[in-house]
Parts: sequence; C-alpha cells; structure tokens
Amino acid sequence: MSITYKSIGLVMIAGALLLAEDSSLSAERIRAHTRFLASDLLEGRGVGQRGGDLATEYIATQFALAGAKPAGDGQTFFQKVPLIGLDAQPASQLSASSAGMNVDFRWGDDFVGADLTQRPSGNFEGGVVFVGHGITAPEYRWDDYKGVDVSGKILLMFTNEPPSQDATFFDGPALTYYGRWTYKYEEGLRRGARAVILIHTTPTAGYGWDVVRSSWSRETPYVKLEPGAKALSLAGWMTHDAAQRLVALAGRNVDDLLDAAEKPGFRPVDLNILLRAAMVQKVRQIDSRNVAALVPGSDPKVSGQTVVFSAHWDHLGIGTPVNGDAIYNGAIDNATGCAILMELARAWAALRQKPRRSALFLSVTAEEGGLKGSEYYAAHPLVPLEKTVIDLNYDAIYPFGRAKDVVITGAGKTPFWPLVQQIAARLNLAISPDSQPGQGYYFRSDHFSFAHVGIPAFSIGHATEFAGKPAGYGQTMWQEYNARHYHQPSDEFQPDWNFTALQQAAQFGFLLGQEIANR
Ligand SMILES: [Zn+2]
Repeated sequence: MSITYKSIGLVMIAGALLLAEDSSLSAERIRAHTRFLASDLLEGRGVGQRGGDLATEYIATQFALAGAKPAGDGQTFFQKVPLIGLDAQPASQLSASSAGMNVDFRWGDDFVGADLTQRPSGNFEGGVVFVGHGITAPEYRWDDYKGVDVSGKILLMFTNEPPSQDATFFDGPALTYYGRWTYKYEEGLRRGARAVILIHTTPTAGYGWDVVRSSWSRETPYVKLEPGAKALSLAGWMTHDAAQRLVALAGRNVDDLLDAAEKPGFRPVDLNILLRAAMVQKVRQIDSRNVAALVPGSDPKVSGQTVVFSAHWDHLGIGTPVNGDAIYNGAIDNATGCAILMELARAWAALRQKPRRSALFLSVTAEEGGLKGSEYYAAHPLVPLEKTVIDLNYDAIYPFGRAKDVVITGAGKTPFWPLVQQIAARLNLAISPDSQPGQGYYFRSDHFSFAHVGIPAFSIGHATEFAGKPAGYGQTMWQEYNARHYHQPSDEFQPDWNFTALQQAAQFGFLLGQEIANR
C-alpha cells in the first residue's frame, strides 16, 4: 500500500505548494526517455561511438527544454572528457627468471593487463615482491607493506581482504574498498611500484578467470594522463596456475603465500625473481563528454553549495553479436537512470520556489569502462568539491511495478542517514540491505567517484520487493536479469514494463535532494 500525495502533504512542513509540484514526477515521461535511449537507433550508447554522441545530445536537449542552465565547458551542457582507449594485445609477454631458471607467460591464458602509462609498447623489468593483499589500513590495524620500500618493484598480491576476525574487522562480510582490485593498483602506484599483478583465485576474486580475461580483452577507456603524471607500467592479473609457476622459481607455493598473507604479522616477501615484460597495446584517443546542467539555488548565501544528481549515459555500444543482435541497448543499464535524471531536472527546474542551494544534473560517460567519466569529473569538478553537498546516483532501476522498498547501500555512512530514513518512511518504502555485501557493489557505480574524494554519495538503487508480487520478487528478477541480460544485447526495452518504481525512485531522490538543498 502506498502513501498518497495528500497524506504526505499532512506531514510535510514545506506544505502543499512544494508537494503539488513534486507530485508531477511522471512514470510515463521516464518510460518515454528510457524507450528512446534504449532504442536501436541509439546503437547502445557506446563511448566514442555515434550512438553515444546522440544520447548526450538528447540529454542536453532535455536539460535545455527543462530550463536548466548549461553547466559544462564554455556555457555549453558538455564537459569534455579526454579518454585514452587501451586494448592490450596478445603479443604482450612476461618472462621470469631466477637462479638460472626461466618461465614464460602467455597473454590471456596466463595473464592479462594493460600498460597504464598509455604507450603503444613498452619493455621493463623488475624484482618481484609478494605483498599479501597489498593493504595499508590503519583503522583496521593492518599493514601488508610494513614500511618496506617497493619503489621500482613488481608487486604480486591477492585481491580482496584478509578474512574477518570479527564483525568490525574490515567491516565483517562487507567488502571494503581495500578489497577492491582498483585499490591495489592505486596503493601500489602511491608506493612507487613499477607494476602490480593480482593473483586470481575464484574465491578471492569472486568470479572466474574467464570474467577477468574477457573484461581485459577489449578496449577499456582510461582518463588521459596529465603530462608528467605517474602510472603503472603494468596493471594486471595472473591465473593461479601461472602464479604457481612464477613463485615456484623461488621455491614457494601460492597457497602457502595466501596462508601467510592472512596473518597480521605478514611481511612483504622479496622473491628474488626478475620479471621482464614486453607490453603491446592499441592506443586510441577518445574525446567523450559528460552532460551537465544546473538549477541555481534561490538563497545567495548558500546557492554556491550544490546537490548533485548523477547517472551514466554510456553502455557497451555495438559489440560482439549474440543471437544475431550486436546492439547492446542497455535499457535498464542505464537508460533508466538517465531517464530519471532528466525527469528530476525537469521537475526541479519547474519548481516555482527553488530550493536554497543549487542542483547539478550530471550524466557521465564511461561508467562501464570503470567509472572513468565520474573519475574525471571528481578531478575536474564543475562545482568546487568543497561546495558539493552530496551526490545521489541512479544506475539500473527495475521497471517491474510498484516498489515496496529501496536499496541505498552506503547511505548509512553519510551524515544524511536520519533524513534518508525519514523520507523513506514518508514514501512508505522500507530500506533493504545489500543482499550481497561481499560483492562490493558500492564501489561499482559513479557515486563512488564522489565518495572517493570525500563527498557523501550513494546510489538510489532498485527495489527488492514489489506490490502484488511474491516475496523476494525483486531479488528473483535481479538474479534473472544478471544471469540473462546484464551487459547483453538482450537488455532491451519491453513495452509491458511498469515504471512506477522509477517514479518512486525519482521521488525519493527529489525529496531528499530538496530537503538537503533547503537546510
Ligand atoms: Zn550501469
């Protein structure tokens, strides 16, 4: 049973005017935007592809029609995002030697990786040091590096975290950022390492080698390095078997190293192995863009402060055909989020009484390539980060009817948690926990680029329970979507979809953003 707008009005301090306007958020407009962005004409909204350019033009046009102000470069709705596409080639090779013995490793079968210095080819060599999980986490009193100088070294490590000692150690079953492979590369680079190679095991990674291999076997966009910026000469992964052959040169074995890495007294192990790398990759400049529109706040004292709403516009574009279909439409991922974003901008710009603080509507590029558009935004913000109050992100909302709950992982760690709870209660939405905290979903959409630079940020996610459906319906549909349609050409618009849940998700963000903007 959902609460009616009238009954919300009784409890809302801001009164009926605000309410009447907010209630104009329309499921049907969200449907129309989703349908257009997910149509075959948009060709899957690939980064560096025509469909992506069309999508960004459409979103900018909608922002303009809404009456929002251009917030991008030079009075436009666009922020240029210079990306470099890296596509590592099978000709890339690694070979290791120690005490007169030699082992070679083949691209794809044994290892994958990219040269993040963004060169087409490069050779280097270095000593291999095993650094456990590669984590320095003072708040959990864990340090795999123990102050050992690893500059110029090739670091070998496991992904994930040491196993939980108790419910608070590395947040118990939830994956912390220390467990993410992206952290491992960042920390290695901070310490001056030449390369970081992660040892793959299915339990520590959470997925099989085929997933690692296929995701590193296609072009991936990276934010173009600034002149003089440092980067890893190899950020990669190695199979368990290949890593076993590598460490066997030092008379070690992978499983013993993992055991050792799980103990707090662990210290880096210099394996006395020399690794030589010859990396070959296709390098392509991709000029992409974020779309940004502003609705200025009404109170000059605080209008410099800004609430950000975000949703990535990109999907996988035209790719390998599946059942004769090469267009990866990305209807749910993330035409739905963009549709909500445009509807939010329209409703916000239409408010007769604007909130005191400003609102920025930001549709970012290259999320599918690893949050690169939002990473670029966080490094080149259009509103100063210290004036950015929160980022509310939308990524893949399920159009399966009327939601009874909402998943908002990470909201509990922001100062807005009490307000979040109040608004959920007002909308009669239960707050459901992340059903797979070990998968680290919090780190896998664009709000995280904001959180990473210290801004309260989370995604307003999909529902797990729907009105009139069996218990756990959202979870069932989620599993089905993940198994059959996620990142497949079959993530297509369906005429029988019911967009009520998207209107609810929009309303949740709208009320939350408005309350924050008015405080
Ligand atoms: Zn997405």
